Amino acid sequence: MDHPKPTTVSSTRTLHQLTCIVPVYNEAKNLPQFIPQLIAECAKFAQKLDIIVIDDGSRDDTVMVLKQLQKEYALKVLVFSRNFGKEAALTAGLSHVDPHSDAAILIDADFQHPLACIETFIAEWQQGYDMVYGVRLHRKDRPVFLRMLSTFFYKLIDRITPIEIPHDAGDFRLLDRDVISALNQLTERERFMKGLYAWVGFSKKAIDYLPEERLQGQSSWGLKKLIELAITGITSFSNLPLRMWSIIGAVISSLSLFYALLIILDTLLNGVDLPGYATITVAITFLGGIQLLSIGILGEYIARIFTEVKQRPPYIISRILTSDPSK
Ligand code: UDP
Ligand code: MG
Repeated sequence: MDHPKPTTVSSTRTLHQLTCIVPVYNEAKNLPQFIPQLIAECAKFAQKLDIIVIDDGSRDDTVMVLKQLQKEYALKVLVFSRNFGKEAALTAGLSHVDPHSDAAILIDADFQHPLACIETFIAEWQQGYDMVYGVRLHRKDRPVFLRMLSTFFYKLIDRITPIEIPHDAGDFRLLDRDVISALNQLTERERFMKGLYAWVGFSKKAIDYLPEERLQGQSSWGLKKLIELAITGITSFSNLPLRMWSIIGAVISSLSLFYALLIILDTLLNGVDLPGYATITVAITFLGGIQLLSIGILGEYIARIFTEVKQRPPYIISRILTSDPSK
């Protein structure tokens, strides 16, 4: 889904300042290796580098490890008061990007996003693309069932929403400062980031990559979290589940009218007959089911409205730890 290169940017851009946003949840074992390697890689391309690590309420020694790393490396650490989820962590990271930063890279701390791609991301940004995102070539780290479910989800969302969400693209991406300020303007609490990246527009470029194995620990995305994310994705970007009930209602009403006419005709031609209980029972249970389903879907949207009107922040930062390794 490559977009044409923007014509407005003819000269190549220069990268003065780069920010890396790293959301972490229980990554104490990966960070001592990841942070030095990330810094070494990015320092090749940017004169000034900001690393923002968001501790998403880890239950292991992540914060201690980060404090230790701060003695050696310049890191800004945002510590959440509890686990708010990766989408909230990325949102926090984006809102803390220095306005002078030319671009930001979002990257996981478990080495699944190859550091070698950063060079390509930056090269494409220099050519004028505002958003460069990684596309996984395979997803063998997840069970077949989850992969099938995710393919189904992307097909569904493709059909029912006006935005184009690229399949197998995650949060591994480079965002230009214009994209960052556009994303920071979006105030919604339920944040389906993959949809928001697509919604803001801008020129985009896909880069294929082979995801590595997770170095340590295990993925925190189980079936329940993925289903929740899928529902947020659909309800945030499509009104079709609300509208389809008018169509279903119209079809069922027309069918019942047709059936009523049939019964009248049958009675006129063949005389009065004792109507079957089966038909009544099936009709009642069928319609009851459909009504409950539609109320459930309505409830799903009302729940989203409820979350939005409460105006609670998407995350709470309990501490911001900054380091100055020169001291
Ligand atoms: N993560 C997070 N909050 C969470 C779950 C995960 O910040 O609630 C971080 C995690 O530390 C990692 C990244 O998000 O840096 C991706 O998580 P994970 O590897 O568990 O997901 P997967 O790679 O399976 O999509
Ligand atoms: Mg991972």
